[in-house]
Amino acid sequence: MVNWAITGKCNLKCTHCYGEYGRVQNEEVPLDTIKKTIDALRAMGTKRITIEGGEPLVRKDAEEIISYIYDRGIEMSLCTNGVLLERHAGFIKDKIDLLVLSLEGCEEHHDALRGAGNFSKVLNAIEVAKKHNMRALIFTCLIDENINDIDFLIATAQKYAVNIAFNIGVAKVEKEGGRGQLNKVADDDYKAAFLKISNYKRNGAPVFYSESNFKQVLNWPTFAKEKFSPEDISCMDEGLKKTMIPCYAGVNYCYVECDGSVYPCYQTVGIIQAKNIAINGFKESFEHLSNISSCKHCYNTALSELNLQCKLDLRSVLKVIANYRSTLSGGGSH
Ligand code: SF4
Ligand code: SF4
Repeated sequence: MVNWAITGKCNLKCTHCYGEYGRVQNEEVPLDTIKKTIDALRAMGTKRITIEGGEPLVRKDAEEIISYIYDRGIEMSLCTNGVLLERHAGFIKDKIDLLVLSLEGCEEHHDALRGAGNFSKVLNAIEVAKKHNMRALIFTCLIDENINDIDFLIATAQKYAVNIAFNIGVAKVEKEGGRGQLNKVADDDYKAAFLKISNYKRNGAPVFYSESNFKQVLNWPTFAKEKFSPEDISCMDEGLKKTMIPCYAGVNYCYVECDGSVYPCYQTVGIIQAKNIAINGFKESFEHLSNISSCKHCYNTALSELNLQCKLDLRSVLKVIANYRSTLSGGGSH
């Protein structure tokens, strides 16, 4: 599985953007390199490509890239802020298996983070997705500004009959390398938030991630630390260790940054020395990751869900199958 920022350009300037896309990062890899990389991915047995950015639909040849992936039979997800969806929906509706739309909270909080007028645009994008029978997922990154919007967000997902995925704020990539401060939500507030989300899920709300994912968050020692190395956890008690989800980044999946650099995941951008698809090709760039000793557990729920799928966690895998079946029938699934 590959998550791929096909552009660093973005039509929004969100204050919480971990990559400062559109502001600091504007790179794009040329189309011929993209196509060569897709061919290499197919040859290596890639099952799913998640296209993201920046804003992927800002890229002028976005539809050509989507067609190229689709024609090679690779499952595809598209993460978008929704602003340009209406323009592309007719073309992409049969090619994309899952559309991921960012909604951060109520109108006041969403627009404070993403810019005035963008709340109504993302709700319109959800309606466009429904009109075109696209399977859509709301994605929310919980930080200081929206930690109290969980009830609203779940009600919105229920109203539109789509799933919702909650993640935790990610430290920003610094321009000069390395990563900045994590967001300021207190440990107890994160745990209360995820307990609430987990209870919603138990009561049938369309919450996307698995129970084992929430279990890890609820047991995470402190959110001041987003990842742990094997050395970090060696001194933890056995019960706590059992709740930690092992990492398969750089083994079963990876992240391609907008400049073509290949990382285990987006949380390692700025931390490790990456090789680049434009210089080294994909295979060499990916194999280079096996020489890098990195973290082994993180509280990031999106990455942990990928790790659960790689670990063949039963509930997580069943969800993938259920989602696939619902794609075949053209409807949403909870
Ligand atoms: S839409 Fe996404 S990529 Fe663009 S600025 Fe906002 S968070 Fe960053
Ligand atoms: S534990 Fe794995 S997925 Fe998480 S930040 Fe580290 S490399 Fe990335």
